[in-house]
Amino acid sequence: MPKDYYSVLGVQKGASEEDIKKAYRKAAHQHHPDKGGDQEKFKEVNEAYQVLGNREKKQQYDQYGQTFEDAGRNGGGAGGFGGNPFGNQGFDVNFEDLGGFGDIFSQFFGGGGGGRSRTSARERNRGSDLQIDMLISFKEMVFGAKREVSLNRNRTCTRCKGNLAEPGTKIVTCGTCKGSGVVRQQVRTILGTMVQEAECSDCHGEGKKAEAKCKECHGEGRTRQLETLVIKIPAGIENGTRIRIAGEGDAPKFGGSVGDLYIAVSVKEDKQFARQGFNIHTETHVPFVTAVLGGITNVNTVDGETEFEIPKGTQPGAEFRIIEKGIKHGATDRRGDQILKVLVDVPKKVSKRQEELLREFEEAGKKKGFFG
Ligand SMILES: [Zn+2]
Ligand SMILES: [Zn+2]
Repeated sequence: MPKDYYSVLGVQKGASEEDIKKAYRKAAHQHHPDKGGDQEKFKEVNEAYQVLGNREKKQQYDQYGQTFEDAGRNGGGAGGFGGNPFGNQGFDVNFEDLGGFGDIFSQFFGGGGGGRSRTSARERNRGSDLQIDMLISFKEMVFGAKREVSLNRNRTCTRCKGNLAEPGTKIVTCGTCKGSGVVRQQVRTILGTMVQEAECSDCHGEGKKAEAKCKECHGEGRTRQLETLVIKIPAGIENGTRIRIAGEGDAPKFGGSVGDLYIAVSVKEDKQFARQGFNIHTETHVPFVTAVLGGITNVNTVDGETEFEIPKGTQPGAEFRIIEKGIKHGATDRRGDQILKVLVDVPKKVSKRQEELLREFEEAGKKKGFFG
């Protein structure tokens, strides 16, 4: 179940933009880990504000109970590590909204702090984002779907958990760079010999390294892994939507944060059903006698065939609403309607007898003043 972002921030549904912002600042102060707050709670608060503080995402959330960007997230995922204190949740913190918090935050993100002035590969690296194109049927769009996909990706090494060290070995100061993370190289140029600084290739800029490299990944921190993921496609998804699943992309070499997986969803066109908002438009043909006198006709809905009563005197092109046979609204139980357009079939040929009856019908109408 998606979290209730409103209760995370302690505001009512329908709270103003300003109130949401205020509530966020208050909660962020309260739970800030640097002030002894709970980091999990802090993460939740930020996640909630990511959605409620963004007009477009808030609207999606209010309507579908989730945002499409994080729709398929199946919780967990491989552990992120390194510079990002929020792990692999994959959201950004809006510094501006935090008012006077800037300084604390830059420390939090490793911007301040003494010692090494360079960033290590782990702090800098981020694995590639991956994308899968997925074609779903109209009915899968209507009701939502679960699809399994197999991915052969670079994932965080399970033996060393991505810290590059053989489990049980000591982490020691790197001998090559003496803990500075950089090595100096003399380079000859036309201007003479110059000294260049480069990242130490033994410790990848960290200044320390394991005594023995992990046997599984040979110190790369990642291995190729074939996995099957279950992708949840929310009901009512629009054709062309990209779903982001944070932390399900590639893991980078030598540690760092894991990339995201994107699912680009296309919805197949359907011969009978057409979408308009959450309603489904269909057409049905009825003989002109049914249009005049009324009668039962069979109609296809996305739930299967159903009987529909055409009322007396139905005009060509008349539209009727079949309640709740439309598209599901995301995670809620609400559904749109089916709009049924009635096309009246006029016979191209009639028998002698039918013609006589129609003439008679016309005469009778004239006498009663029904026509003309
Ligand atoms: Zn490993
Ligand atoms: Zn080194």
